[in-house]
Amino acid sequence: MRTNTVASTASQGPDAVYAQSLAEGVWRVQRCTACKLPIFFPRTACTHCGSFDYSWFEPSPLGIVHSTTVMRRPAQAGGDLQLCLVDLDDGFRMMSRVDGVAPASVAIDDRVEAFIGERDGEPLVLFRKTGVSA
Ligand SMILES: [Zn+2]
Repeated sequence: MRTNTVASTASQGPDAVYAQSLAEGVWRVQRCTACKLPIFFPRTACTHCGSFDYSWFEPSPLGIVHSTTVMRRPAQAGGDLQLCLVDLDDGFRMMSRVDGVAPASVAIDDRVEAFIGERDGEPLVLFRKTGVSA
């Protein structure tokens, strides 16, 4: 008889922990224990100081558009796709897109809010404009 008593989460890399958390509906980001800065995208060592010690926190969903572009695609390929870099209020930058608006209507300095959406059945962090009425 074989048994496995090792907790599966103990052997997961940070990218797997990140993906599993998103699948459970919670957005978590690493914070370095040594220098206290957020680490994004998930990785095993801090990009600021090289420490291997980190914890997970739920960041504020609020941020501001740092840059934006529209990737032109034919309609049969899904149409134009908006892509942006967002500076989160909690001090890290991520690539994503602003959902629910015309791709070219997103502007630098737009205030945005993160939510967990999905693409091809996989959860991912997307953004929507704040203070926009339909
Ligand atoms: Zn650090």
